[in-house]
Amino acid sequence: MQAVRAGQDRSGAWHQTCSVGARLPGQLAGRQYAGRVPRYASVYPLVPARALARIFTYEVPDGVQKGAVVEVRFARSKARGVVVDVNGKAPEGIEVASIERVVEELPPALIDLALWLAEYYGSTPGRTLPLVAPRVRKRRKDSPAPLLREGLAGEPVPERLTDEQRAAVERLTGALGSGGNFLLYGVTGSGKTEVYLQACAAALARGLGAIVLVPEIALTPQAAGRFAARFGDGLAILHSGLTDAERRDERGRIARGEARIVVGARSAIFAPVRDLGLICVDEEQEASYKQESDPRYDARTVAAKRAALERAVAVYGSATPRPESWERLERLDLGGRLVGELPPVRVVDLRREAGYPLSAPLLAELQRVAEQGGKAILLLNRRGIAPALHCRACGTTLRCPNCDVALVLHRDDRLHCHHCGHTAPSPDACPACASPELARIGAGTEKLERELAERVPGLERIRLDADVVDERGAVTDALRHFAATDRAVLLGTQMVAKGHHFADVALAAVVDADSQLSLPDFRAEERTFQLLTQLAGRSGRDAPGRVIVQTFQPDARAVAYAARHDVAGFLAGELERRRDLGYPPFRHLVRVVVAGPDPDAPLTALREVAAGLEGADLLGPAPLLRLRGRHRAQLIAKTDEPRRVASRAGRLLAAGAPAMRRAGLTAVVDVDPQSL
Ligand code: ADP
Ligand code: ZN
Ligand code: ZN
Repeated sequence: MQAVRAGQDRSGAWHQTCSVGARLPGQLAGRQYAGRVPRYASVYPLVPARALARIFTYEVPDGVQKGAVVEVRFARSKARGVVVDVNGKAPEGIEVASIERVVEELPPALIDLALWLAEYYGSTPGRTLPLVAPRVRKRRKDSPAPLLREGLAGEPVPERLTDEQRAAVERLTGALGSGGNFLLYGVTGSGKTEVYLQACAAALARGLGAIVLVPEIALTPQAAGRFAARFGDGLAILHSGLTDAERRDERGRIARGEARIVVGARSAIFAPVRDLGLICVDEEQEASYKQESDPRYDARTVAAKRAALERAVAVYGSATPRPESWERLERLDLGGRLVGELPPVRVVDLRREAGYPLSAPLLAELQRVAEQGGKAILLLNRRGIAPALHCRACGTTLRCPNCDVALVLHRDDRLHCHHCGHTAPSPDACPACASPELARIGAGTEKLERELAERVPGLERIRLDADVVDERGAVTDALRHFAATDRAVLLGTQMVAKGHHFADVALAAVVDADSQLSLPDFRAEERTFQLLTQLAGRSGRDAPGRVIVQTFQPDARAVAYAARHDVAGFLAGELERRRDLGYPPFRHLVRVVVAGPDPDAPLTALREVAAGLEGADLLGPAPLLRLRGRHRAQLIAKTDEPRRVASRAGRLLAAGAPAMRRAGLTAVVDVDPQSL
């Protein structure tokens, strides 16, 4: 048994020490005792306890570098740790333990990346280092083949690139090795993916690796599939559907250099690719690049930081770029579509047209598809039958007992809360006044599906929303089926607007453009514009298509510019508005949210934080919707120094932590929040 204790030297660094030399595994131990000068490394233990969230000194054998993931004896058990520095000095007067073994070796830049991330997002290295050194459990027996390696013949390389594509590829490859940030701008079908593919091939040819980020692989298997078809076994795919064993295998292939190109969602930005030359971020406007739990990082920001650390090129591609990227990045413009024209957009004014969710013009187009054949895509960003039940007698809307939101009626004749999952049978009478006159307000995807069955029976219906995608493979099945059929309508929430490529989409329609617009968020217009434009891009790729947008606000900027396919015009106006209001990209936002069981306590706590942030440009504190029984409030700071404001807010909250704990309050500091 070894007696283990921890000590702190004069510099404040902590040291794991023990009274007898640790046993080393054979190979490392041999080198260790060959009479060399001992080397000391700073090791950050990957243990959750905040009290241990500091650097410890261990003795390491030669050859262990910054970036090594090591196993160490810690207190009475073993723990994993990450070597963050190997130039440590021996602490005076205490004997330093040796590491047990090296588990994995990461590119050293990933350590700097994780430490930067902890500082920028107000998190801790204990939480950010596991992003680059995730614990992968031992192999289990039942390891199915990785997804997406089947559905893929060799993908043809186009005979020649367009002038715009060639210019973009040349600019990107010219920057390989020195770095740079670029926006690849082009409508859906303008050949962006081909540019990523060729830039990746150029990186490979120079012995450099590449990471391609896509929003969500399960929803858009086609994008990853094209990379797999082009690069075969030289590609690794990381996505949430992998089992632990699959993930371990893919990481191993990346670490050993067998796979030099990695395609994956958000967390693939931390893949242990060596000699990284290129990062492509596809559909860069997608909100899913932001992680909504601690550490609340944004993979797009992390991509820029990793590119800067490794002198890699970062290219962000989109048909509807974020104002942030439009303003800041060098633009590589791909011009128009390679195949087909952008479809004409008809805006249907719901103040004049009855029949919602199927107005007469929309119905006529659907009937035309039913008669002539082809595919239709219908977007309605709400699930269920009716988004609300409303009493005609007393005006009560049925709400979730835990959340301040209306309950949604579903096909099972129950009311569902889309936030906390609460369900209850749909009542026959108003719980407030007992009137039986309960009106169903609005329409959700289930209602739309019913109406379509009644009114356009000749068209097969394929629904895609969170209610049908619970099972692994459900999305792929639905999309495959839709791709194969020649007379069907794909209807669903915003999932139907994302990166799918289908031939013969004769009609794309937004049933309700207002649902997003009315959200209290300065990005509501941007999101609406992106959604409308993305959906319009699904239509008319091969044959002439049509687009219909139903709205109560036909004059809203997002609707009007989307109807004209005027991305530059929309972004110019959006940037002007944001400059006036001091929103990103001109200033950063830091958001503090406090939640608790008591209605007033969150606001009170935030008022104290606001007082402590004196001098900052603050919005609020203001109450938010109650969710899952917790009352919430938020404070937003506009600032040019997000790190400083976030760490000050963090310190203020930490100082009040005991009182907050007693009151059952929790707090979150979100740097560069993506939704308010
Ligand atoms: P995006 O990523 O902008 O939607 P893609 O790269 O998917 O565009 O290109 C759209 C279609 O055009 C794809 O089917 C692709 O294979 C094809 N394509 C791309 N570049 C060329 C080219 N230079 N010549 C011919 N076809 C091309
Ligand atoms: Zn009532
Ligand atoms: Zn609820």
